[in-house]
Amino acid sequence: MSDQLQQAIESRRTFAIISHPDAGKTTLTEKLLLFGGAIRDAGTVKGKKTGKFATSDWMEIEKQRGISVTSSVMQFDYSGHRVNILDTPGHQDFSEDTYRTLMAVDSAVMIIDVAKGIEAQTVKLFKVCKMRGIPIFTFINKMDRQGKEPLELMEELEEVLGIQSYAMNWPIGMGKEFMGIYDRYNKRIEPFRSEGGRFMELDENGHLAGEHEMTKTSYYTQALEDIELLEEAGNDFSIDRVKRGELTPVFFGSALANFGVETFLETYLQFAPQPQPRLTKQEDIVDPVETPFSGFVFKIQANMNPAHRDRIAFVRIVSGKFNRGMNVTLSRTGKSFKLSQTTQFLADDREMVSEAVAGDIIGLHDVGNYQIGDTITSGKKFEFEALPQFTPELFMKVTAKNVMKQKHFHKGILQLVQEGAIQYYKTLHLEEVILGAVGQLQFEVFEHRMKNEYNVDVRMEPVGNKIARWIENEEDVKESMSSGRSMLVKDRYDNLVFLFENDFATRWFQDKNPEIRLYSLL
Ligand code: GDP
Repeated sequence: MSDQLQQAIESRRTFAIISHPDAGKTTLTEKLLLFGGAIRDAGTVKGKKTGKFATSDWMEIEKQRGISVTSSVMQFDYSGHRVNILDTPGHQDFSEDTYRTLMAVDSAVMIIDVAKGIEAQTVKLFKVCKMRGIPIFTFINKMDRQGKEPLELMEELEEVLGIQSYAMNWPIGMGKEFMGIYDRYNKRIEPFRSEGGRFMELDENGHLAGEHEMTKTSYYTQALEDIELLEEAGNDFSIDRVKRGELTPVFFGSALANFGVETFLETYLQFAPQPQPRLTKQEDIVDPVETPFSGFVFKIQANMNPAHRDRIAFVRIVSGKFNRGMNVTLSRTGKSFKLSQTTQFLADDREMVSEAVAGDIIGLHDVGNYQIGDTITSGKKFEFEALPQFTPELFMKVTAKNVMKQKHFHKGILQLVQEGAIQYYKTLHLEEVILGAVGQLQFEVFEHRMKNEYNVDVRMEPVGNKIARWIENEEDVKESMSSGRSMLVKDRYDNLVFLFENDFATRWFQDKNPEIRLYSLL
């Protein structure tokens, strides 16, 4: 191990943004990238809305939807750190990949819209972060708009998400009356629209030093009162608890106005963890610095170039250093090969990467060799802990339109399921194929790939939204417990699963069959 490698790894910060659509993820990402000088002009991240990426060669669905592949991973340098932001697609683009991306980061930034509070998709993504025990940093956005009371939002964090919070700064007014933030951590005030300097100093009592118009407003008084309350009744700041994901530091600001973003970034970089060790299946620790190059595949992006049917397998480097052309082993198959065709994604360019270290993400050109969760190593062979399976919510019955194509149909499904693109279920006797997904996009990608890669037209019949529950004591399940509202199926490992119509059907089933112990995956 060289000092240089150690320094490079220690400088890495790899995170994802979790938020509900429209909370401001794109806007905040743009501003962060601008601080790092990584993008040529603001707006490039928004391939979606500006159509800037229209000339690229992504698969049809991506073009139609305007998903920006290049924004899957964004990288920038800021004050001695190299920051990797992993995109977590939302809206219709939400898929299991969104969840899996959270398995590849060391921390998460949670954006909350001040007017909306905590929304559904944030809760789902938060749960995955919580399960991993990774640090979560909260940015309450759109303070230039009227929203909920800050104290109410802090309560919501505790009640809805069950995480304790510590306000690093506190808003003075909001909406039209937004005057700035009282920075508890840096002990200064950052005025929102100021003719003067970026910061205003506090005296030893924590009040604005000198004469200022702001001190005469009720918003200033209110902020000081709130802060006093937080000092007395709020949580104490503890970096250890932040690192364990038990306490979230909260920042207020406006991504659009680029206010509070740099303060957030600086504090985030100070406290966010560097690349963390990971466990193997045997529970051995893989140290980012000491262990030679290793990584795992957390996402496979299909058909970047339809003419070549190629895919990109996204690898999170867990340890060591990657060099182009190095020899590695794919642990699942034991096959060794050279890593040559590698791409790393910068903000708006697909660039070849020749060197990357633990914490970084590399994209490997894939012709179907990789599966989600695969480990690659350059030294001793081992496998990382398996990635969790997520409980799907949407289901589709699928058949081949042409019955003569059964073989291709099953081969295609098998491969796509193994790759992690979609989940496989089947009905008990007829063994009809039911696919499960967490987002609609997964079905569309499935349909498209079956046609393009396996030459099979499929018929997709919605089974709808279901609540999937696995069963601890399968031996006690009788087929008569199954009905239209509680469909009994098997998953790809032949475990029994009930697909309930809704919450009501789930409760009704439990009332009638209290002896059956149901559980959900993540
Ligand atoms: P995403 O869906 O989470 O990526 O959200 P966007 O970044 O696309 O933002 C959604 C909308 O909110 C856009 O119209 C933004 O201009 C707007 N927006 C984002 N941040 C702010 C903010 O701080 N203040 C205000 N007023 N609007 C914002």
